Amino acid sequence: MPQVVFSVDQNKSMRDQAVPGQNRWHPDIPPAAWVRPGDEFRVECREWTDAQIGNNDSANDIRDVDLDGCHMLSGPIGVEGAEPGDLLIVDILDLGPCQAPQEYGEAPGQGWGYTGVFAKANGGGFLTDHFPDAYKAIWDFRGQEATSRHIPGVRFTGITHPGLFGVAPSAELLARWNERERALIATDPDRVPPLALPPLEASVLGGTASGDRLAVIARDGARTVPPRENGGNHDIKNFTRGSRVFYPVHVPGALLSGGDLHFSQGDGEITFCGAIEMGGFIDFHVDLIKGGMETYGVTTNPVLIPGRVEPRYDEFVTFIGISVEHESNTNYYNDATVAYRNACLNAVEYLKKFGYSGEQAYLLLGTAPIEGRVSGVVDIPNACCSLYLPTAIFDFDIRPAASGPVRADRGSCALTS
Ligand code: ZN
Repeated sequence: MPQVVFSVDQNKSMRDQAVPGQNRWHPDIPPAAWVRPGDEFRVECREWTDAQIGNNDSANDIRDVDLDGCHMLSGPIGVEGAEPGDLLIVDILDLGPCQAPQEYGEAPGQGWGYTGVFAKANGGGFLTDHFPDAYKAIWDFRGQEATSRHIPGVRFTGITHPGLFGVAPSAELLARWNERERALIATDPDRVPPLALPPLEASVLGGTASGDRLAVIARDGARTVPPRENGGNHDIKNFTRGSRVFYPVHVPGALLSGGDLHFSQGDGEITFCGAIEMGGFIDFHVDLIKGGMETYGVTTNPVLIPGRVEPRYDEFVTFIGISVEHESNTNYYNDATVAYRNACLNAVEYLKKFGYSGEQAYLLLGTAPIEGRVSGVVDIPNACCSLYLPTAIFDFDIRPAASGPVRADRGSCALTS
């Protein structure tokens, strides 16, 4: 096992760890550890809400979750010799739930994980207009497989990956983020859910920073929800074992941070709290390409070489969506978001015919290794997106046939009371 450079005791909040992590992006968050180019090392992670969610049959904890302190991230890890303009090479050597092979306990990642649909009033999700309340499914891990008492009839191999890793922004880059996100918010400041999240002093955690330094991080630190130029919350399911990512370096030492480990996720992470969320560990190797940002023209984005490890599903029922609101018979010109939402809704309606509730189907599409594709964005006026649902994850046949769907009592996901 590589040396642990950031350790987590899963019985304690991230705030109470020997070296606490962070929940904002800011260049002044002090490095928790330093490594050298060529080093291999382990980072331990809390589940992204800092374990606010329990292994139980109520979604009240999802409904009431406090998002001010999210995501709870590990790091930053400084890389000696990294300078602005370099590319930081990060290899994911391995990752998994807490202390592989198996550990059981009350924190997500200790043998189990969860997926939740946030209530519209508290974050929402991709289908929030259709599913405005909070829902939850608990998933049990058995080796690489996940099953849920809240979505019976389904078993799949996870495509384990970190939802969120990235490097620190420079002060200038951070100011640009805050400027553009505040401008977006100003276009509709009272929207529910909000268009973006501005810096927030409440619940800020800036590693070992305190006093004036922490006050500056609280005032200006960027929230961790979106992906940005530094990486961040990509939620790319293929960012798994064996992946190599190249991050543009914006500050001396690069300052790599992250967490939000996922046991599995479907493309789009549509439920927002949408993967199978867990704490755990991730092993890295790092190196540098000096001056690589200019050499490769990689400035506003990381570049990724996905790993070769993924579940082998080779048959899919594919749901197509176009950029039309069918109810009002309205076209949305080449809008891939509208098209993908329709692909998801079409899959939900189909799965309901087998006895699942719409909420169960929604939770399943967020977590199972479904493929989401932008199929066409040029055939005016309708963008076309598609959602590939693997048939082999069900213990009954979901393919359309003249005999009709195998309808059964499929139980219930966790609801609010
Ligand atoms: Zn996540």
